[in-house]
Amino acid sequence: MAPPARTVRVDVAVVGAGAAGLYAALWAARQGARVALVSRSPLAESASYWAQGGIAAALDPGDSPDRHLADTLSAGRGLSRPSAAEALCAESPPRVLDLEGLGVSFDRAADGSRALGLEGGHSHRRVVHAGGSATGRRITRELSALCATEARVEVLEGLTASAMWVSEGRCAGLLAHPTRRPDGPRVAVLSRGTVLATGGAAALWERTTNPRGAIGAGLTLALAAGAALADLELVQFHPTALVDPDGADGFLVSEAVRGEGAVLRDGGGERFVDELAPRDHVAGAIHRRLEEGGGPVSLDMRGMDLGHFPNIVATLRRAGFEPARAPVPVAPAAHYTMGGVATDGDGRSSVPGLLAVGECACTGVHGANRLASNSLAECFVFGRRSAEAALEEPVPGHPLELPEVPPSPVPPRATRSALWRLAGLERHEDGLAELAGDPFALAWMIARAALARKESRGAHRRTDHPATDPALDHLHAVADGEAATRLERWE
Ligand SMILES: Cc1cc2nc3c(=O)[nH]c(=O)nc-3n(C[C@H](O)[C@H](O)[C@H](O)COP(=O)(O)OP(=O)(O)OC[C@H]3O[C@@H](n4cnc5c(N)ncnc54)[C@H](O)[C@@H]3O)c2cc1C
Repeated sequence: MAPPARTVRVDVAVVGAGAAGLYAALWAARQGARVALVSRSPLAESASYWAQGGIAAALDPGDSPDRHLADTLSAGRGLSRPSAAEALCAESPPRVLDLEGLGVSFDRAADGSRALGLEGGHSHRRVVHAGGSATGRRITRELSALCATEARVEVLEGLTASAMWVSEGRCAGLLAHPTRRPDGPRVAVLSRGTVLATGGAAALWERTTNPRGAIGAGLTLALAAGAALADLELVQFHPTALVDPDGADGFLVSEAVRGEGAVLRDGGGERFVDELAPRDHVAGAIHRRLEEGGGPVSLDMRGMDLGHFPNIVATLRRAGFEPARAPVPVAPAAHYTMGGVATDGDGRSSVPGLLAVGECACTGVHGANRLASNSLAECFVFGRRSAEAALEEPVPGHPLELPEVPPSPVPPRATRSALWRLAGLERHEDGLAELAGDPFALAWMIARAALARKESRGAHRRTDHPATDPALDHLHAVADGEAATRLERWE
């Protein structure tokens, strides 16, 4: 393989320019570090840009990080890593204040206080949002403008990280190629700490709310570098994704809409579930109603103030739906991957020098079911922590050997359909055994993890093991490549 056309030497390399990557890059730069931010695609292709609801943070005087923690642990169904959940709930409020200091203006109530939304599984109004349902767009816009003008951040735009550069068991940086020309001139980035912030993997499933690029590319890179992945069987299915096969299929109608009074109705027009129960509960109820032939299921937004959700309403109207007049058809879709690169509470993976943050990481914070709006909070809380941890890494030597480039992270169409069919809302040993033979690495690893978790818990529903097994509390399914999945206890 020809040597790279250019080598960039920095303190911290960040891969991915969603909320987690942008914030980690800025935080490292604010500590005086030189940073390279490798960004594959235009902004609108990050899940962060699409985020609607907001950021969960106990900012109301009547609320507290302890209450937020209790809700997070309850949604996590006995699998949240307590230390990570404590960090999330304690540090989310100061991160929101920091974002305000950076120029993000969150929506205000008539009395001037921050407007706080209520979402499923939260016992208190604690979701800050911006521009109604344009939270992700506003945040990524501000943070990317700051990264673009921050002298210490070199933005390597239009480049895709294609391999981690591991030498003598330590990650010393990465190789990247032009996104539009995979055989074009390559760039090497040498860094003390390399932070993967490549987003989740929910677009591996056929029906998804995620941008097409959310295929777990960072997991493929980390795996090839020798890092362990964890909790791959834990995928959250959002209950209310638009059903519109020839148009905006999978478009997410935020939980916040139900928080403001929208209700779910079955084919007979009846309500059948507590709309504000945690996501796994609501998604499971819709799935069962559809399987029993009680559909179509629709979300009734009539009678509520649609003015709170201008972006959602505009997208629905563009797709030909008029939510003020008729309920809109919805069904679950793969939405959020709780699993990812196994990390400690500061983003360190099992390979020294390689860190991960945001949805591509698995700190264990979400357990078996992420609480709404805890994932943007995770991006900022652990974005800061991983930036600081990356700076503690030693300066690497220049690796002599060029790294092997891992196989393409893009799943074949048949794999996406197999994941939906065999590792969807309900799984069974027979289907999972079939999926374990899929040629795509992440697919068979997901199957093996789901086979190892012989129980139902949170987002993971096994029809052959319908009960939760208390012996599996706090045990995470961890694997690094061909080795068997092991169950590890994380404190
Ligand atoms: C429709 C929708 C609504 C949501 N609403 C909310 C909400 O209201 N509140 C909440 O907390 N969460 C919400 N979520 C979840 C949340 O948005 C995500 O979990 C979070 O934004 C993930 O951020 P991230 O920075 O980890 O990844 P992303 O925002 O997905 O960013 C990943 C970036 O990495 C880049 N990348 C990937 N691979 C490579 C590579 N090899 N080389 C270079 N770059 C690469 C991608 O192009 C992308 O820019 C929502 C998700 C969706 C899909």
